[in-house]
Amino acid sequence: MINTVLGKKKIEDLGYILPHEHIFIDLTNEFSEPKNPEMAKICYDEISLKNVGYIKLNPYLMKDNFILDNEDIMTDELKIFKAHGGGTIIDNTNIGINRDPLKLKRMAEKTGVNIICGSGYYTGDTFPSDFSEKRENDIAEEILNEFRYGISVGLGGQMSIPPSSLRPQIPKSLNDFSGTLGGDATPQTYGLGGQDCKIFPGIIGEIGTSKVISENEKKSLCGAAIACKELHAPMQVHLHPWGTTGIDVINILKPFNLDFEKVVICHTDVELNIEYMEKLLDMGVYVQFDNIAKEFFIPEAGGYADGPFASDRERCVCIKKLCDKGYASQILLSNDICLKQMLHNYGGLGFDYILVTFKEMMKFYGVSHSDINKILFENTINWLKK
Ligand SMILES: [Zn+2]
Repeated sequence: MINTVLGKKKIEDLGYILPHEHIFIDLTNEFSEPKNPEMAKICYDEISLKNVGYIKLNPYLMKDNFILDNEDIMTDELKIFKAHGGGTIIDNTNIGINRDPLKLKRMAEKTGVNIICGSGYYTGDTFPSDFSEKRENDIAEEILNEFRYGISVGLGGQMSIPPSSLRPQIPKSLNDFSGTLGGDATPQTYGLGGQDCKIFPGIIGEIGTSKVISENEKKSLCGAAIACKELHAPMQVHLHPWGTTGIDVINILKPFNLDFEKVVICHTDVELNIEYMEKLLDMGVYVQFDNIAKEFFIPEAGGYADGPFASDRERCVCIKKLCDKGYASQILLSNDICLKQMLHNYGGLGFDYILVTFKEMMKFYGVSHSDINKILFENTINWLKK
């Protein structure tokens, strides 16, 4: 069983799952004004057919691109996903990038798509101002409490720690969580002024790390690792999309003796470094190609952006090579939709792109039927289930 925003559901009943998406998000922390003076003039405009061409290759040029907040548009996008055979979306929007579990609940009710939401903190530039005062055990406890009590939406989806007298014993497994411990304890009863929405996270993540992993990010990751170990919960770790910090992340996680079959290393498909990916895979984690449909070229390095993206054709070739080396059961695929331009409503390819097009592309580049089946269906279920 796993927590969806509408309650527990059997993992076998989730249908086709996208493991790493964002239905609502505010990623404006990644925006900085472009140096090109003509682009600077329009960078605060709303996206329209007239200007969407500018962000086709460089998504970082317009601030509006980084906000997904319109319920009607996202309802439409999810319905399209469902019409093409989609079953479940794992929404990785967590603390710092505008998590809103009640909005997700409305989306699930309106569209019939299962939605699973995440817990824990995003990258350091989005941490709350008091983050430095937290210890890694506090962070672990915050995550554990979300699985126990539900997310406190009155506090903007922020996590909060009840006094120790109200903290129940840590259960031994994830199945002992929300159902039995959601009970009578609410944020009001422990005086936090929040509104208990009885919506429980299903995964930990995406836990944010930056180009250089800061001490605070390390603490956030360690806290998440403690909770991951306690709950045996699935976890996603966000990496700076360029570079090889996955190795650093694994080294930080190692002392916690996690089951690496529960850990997903995200964003490994921006630069396709096979040797690096093999090192990660040999540690037993899942490697996630979650930039499917993003074929960006960013001419102006600076701000968050740090270089070009691989193309989908190159991703298919890389997936084929990894399958040939025997890693097919450790690869996950997703679009990481976090930009307006990726939606059908803004001329993009939407949540259905992998099922409609990318699957065919993998076939064309020689990935076998059985490996495609693993990558699209079996692996995500195994990651959630084991
Ligand atoms: Zn991410």
